[in-house]
Amino acid sequence: MTELRLREAVIAAAREMNALGINRGTSGNVSARFTTPEFDGYLITPTGLPYAQMLPDDIVAMTIAGGDSHAGRLPSSEWRFHRDIYRTRPEIGAVVHTHARYATTLACMNRAIPPFHYMVAIAGGRDIRCAPYATFGTQALADHAIAALADRRACLLAHHGMIGIGATLEAALAVALEVETLAEMYWRLLRDGEPALLADAEMEITLEKFRTYGQPR
Ligand SMILES: [Zn+2]
Repeated sequence: MTELRLREAVIAAAREMNALGINRGTSGNVSARFTTPEFDGYLITPTGLPYAQMLPDDIVAMTIAGGDSHAGRLPSSEWRFHRDIYRTRPEIGAVVHTHARYATTLACMNRAIPPFHYMVAIAGGRDIRCAPYATFGTQALADHAIAALADRRACLLAHHGMIGIGATLEAALAVALEVETLAEMYWRLLRDGEPALLADAEMEITLEKFRTYGQPR
């Protein structure tokens, strides 16, 4: 994909995130890995600019090595966890961060999403972890996020929001949407107390089926 097409795709994914109802306003951010023979990095939404008026030139190119900006706009304040995901997860090509209502509600309760439904496995494991709180934009938050994302394609961020990652922008958006759907169900269930959970053996079967039938999007 050309750089221009990828810039357009990042903007489209950011708008889709809001259209799907998993983010509002200028919260959240989106990036996609961008590698050429001369450049090893990613393209990320800028800070504080409404997605409706975002143009390809507003997307910021960042290198994985130094995190330096090569464009006029400042990158999203959360560029550190985007950079560290690309740095540590070679299979990942896109990152979506949202303040989705139900995922964030659970995150504000410091709750991971346990295996109450088999689709929890869509994020890659038997649960969807909640990373401990750290101030937005800090390296501490990036470190917590990387740990919570180990062997996973999504995590919650305590008192903040959630992250979905995938090989493509479509895959990252899809897992973020599924996490929000699961978060809403789990939050509703919690109003009646802790729901029954699937056994680890059942989750293993589901994880294996997802592996066998290809990467869930
Ligand atoms: Zn955020």
